[in-house]
Amino acid sequence: MNDFRRDPEGGYVPSVHLNLNVRGLEPSATLAINELSNALIGQGREVLKLGLGQSPFPVPETVVEALKANAHQKDYLPVRGLPALREAVADYHRRKNGVARGGSNVLIGPGSKELMFLIQLVYYGDLVIPTPSWVSYAPQAQIIGRHVRWIPTSSKNNWQLQPEDLERLCEVDAERPRLMILNYPNNPTGHTYDATELKELAAVARRYRVVMLSDEIYGEIHHDGRHVSIAEFYPEGTIISTGLSKWCGAGGWRLGSFTFPEALTWLLNSMAVVASETFTATSAPIQHAAVTAFRGAPEIEAYLVKCRRILKAIGRYGTRSLKEAGARVREPAGAFYLFPDFGHLRHELKERSVTSSRVLCERLLKETGVASIPGSSCGRSESELTLRLAYVDFDGARALQALESLEPTEEPNEWFLREHCSNVTTAFDRLCEWTPKAVAAHR
Ligand code: GLU
Repeated sequence: MNDFRRDPEGGYVPSVHLNLNVRGLEPSATLAINELSNALIGQGREVLKLGLGQSPFPVPETVVEALKANAHQKDYLPVRGLPALREAVADYHRRKNGVARGGSNVLIGPGSKELMFLIQLVYYGDLVIPTPSWVSYAPQAQIIGRHVRWIPTSSKNNWQLQPEDLERLCEVDAERPRLMILNYPNNPTGHTYDATELKELAAVARRYRVVMLSDEIYGEIHHDGRHVSIAEFYPEGTIISTGLSKWCGAGGWRLGSFTFPEALTWLLNSMAVVASETFTATSAPIQHAAVTAFRGAPEIEAYLVKCRRILKAIGRYGTRSLKEAGARVREPAGAFYLFPDFGHLRHELKERSVTSSRVLCERLLKETGVASIPGSSCGRSESELTLRLAYVDFDGARALQALESLEPTEEPNEWFLREHCSNVTTAFDRLCEWTPKAVAAHR
């Protein structure tokens, strides 16, 4: 029997019948802030939506046309995915990352998030995650009952995992099975690794036979188009994760892929068993359309170049503004996130009763209308004053159109951003006005 009681807010308080692993868990921070922002907007409040990390850009026209042409596809598809799509994904990684894999190495899922959950379910081992990290890896591990080993990184090292820190973790109980998730360009920091850094991490992972889940969902929006995969340097142990959500503007389509090395086929097979008993197969029309996206075309490449120019310009502008506001922050190399640290304004913020990133976020939303995610949702300590800002609150179609009026190599300037990405620039302005540094200056 269900045994829920109503709480005073009208929600439900879970009872003793809930699985221990999910008791006390709240909805994912990214989705919760999005729903809260929409609810506030519905009540007439102005919210600058820097909470959910959703691509602002439209799905490329050829991919939309492919979806239209496949709306009639109604049959269940094979559990592992449409064969043509699996081939297209393998070929994409051959082209883009120089990694030799075939269609049989690919597993398609309804978003890479679901595949991440499945891999943790079927793989028996610790989950190793550098922090700050995307908000959902650790809750997934908790739901399944996996042990999470965090490896903190530091802003001094550009929030990058240091090979010696990975080594230190692995050398204790060297034979222990471990699944490591390395995400770059990174959510929430926007930073990434170059080939030399990836080679060093690959050497440690190989030494301890760590299963490397390389989350490359933002690879195509490396701002200079120079993404490199760790699979190049640790091919036998790396699974590449990607999807349509970020580079193809199609988060709501829910399509992700994992591409396995031959040696980890047993893992793919087990995930396919669970997939067959849970989601069955990914939506047929979406898979057919995704073939067009992964096969690529000159117009998709041109679209990506334009998206990167806009994201890079906002990243630069946002970094400058946040520095003026007194935050420590570095310019992102990819994706659409900034991860400012307000730690050295701790004293002044404490005077305003802001002592944790959660309170910082709540106060910003209430007092400036800027929605964000606290660093504590990204695996950082409660007291660290870090935030994730997803600078995506603008009409990407309009911004792409406006870019046509610039020279091909011209960086969109402040005027362009204020004109075409105004919610984002207003959000930075408000942050600058709100911080103690600004308040002190006006005293
Ligand atoms: N990955 C996006 C984010 O971090 C949104 C999707 C999600 O979290 O499920 O904001």
